Amino acid sequence: MKTSKIICGIMAAAMSAALFTGCSEKKTTLVMATNAEFPPYEYREGDSIVGIDAEIAKAIADDMGLELVIEDMAFDSIIAAVQSGKADIGVAGMTVDEDRLVSVNFSDPYTTAAQVVIIKEGSEIASPADLESKKVGVQLGTTGDIYVSDMQNVTVERYNKGFEAVQALLQDKIDAVVIDREPAKVFVSQNEGIKILDEEYTIEEYAIAVAKNNDELLADINASLAKLEESGKLQEIIDKYITAE
Ligand code: GLN
Repeated sequence: MKTSKIICGIMAAAMSAALFTGCSEKKTTLVMATNAEFPPYEYREGDSIVGIDAEIAKAIADDMGLELVIEDMAFDSIIAAVQSGKADIGVAGMTVDEDRLVSVNFSDPYTTAAQVVIIKEGSEIASPADLESKKVGVQLGTTGDIYVSDMQNVTVERYNKGFEAVQALLQDKIDAVVIDREPAKVFVSQNEGIKILDEEYTIEEYAIAVAKNNDELLADINASLAKLEESGKLQEIIDKYITAE
């Protein structure tokens, strides 16, 4: 670090200030892109964004000696924000997925998750296989959207927010919603007359998205995650928001 600073200094002195932008000051922030519509992972509480992902990212930033800055955006803008460097990391209950791995790298997974099916009480849909020939609501750009779009004979209705898909189900505009389990539990607990099918649609893993060329950051994130896991802090954060059934 010292040597590189000296080299930077020499180069800066050798070039005009207008031309020289190669050695910026050391980073002090860790910018996290998220979509704060996804309880209990990220949601708004008053003016702040709270939840499992916000706390994990804060703990990682603390470990790296950086200040966490959270940028709230549409879920389907997060990968582009990470790719372009607008954000350092994407932490948004984001499932590790082959297609996404073309655009970004993922950290080691920090939790196991699932896509589940929400239906109205009394619905004839009894398992994910029964979604055939039905109208299914998903959140735009999520793995729910990707997987349901791959099904034959299913009409996919895409919503910007998972919550809006649940509203459409309550209004009988659609027959079911495919969405991540923990937000599904929150939405079901807030509304009468809907329930989650026992059989999961998929099992998946959440991880932190990092730009393809940023191997150093990826290694740092994985090192911090490993520390959080070993110390029990990761589980503590999860347990604060998700009560065991
Ligand atoms: N786990 C899903 C995905 O990665 C949904 C994430 C979200 O809506 N925040 O696509």
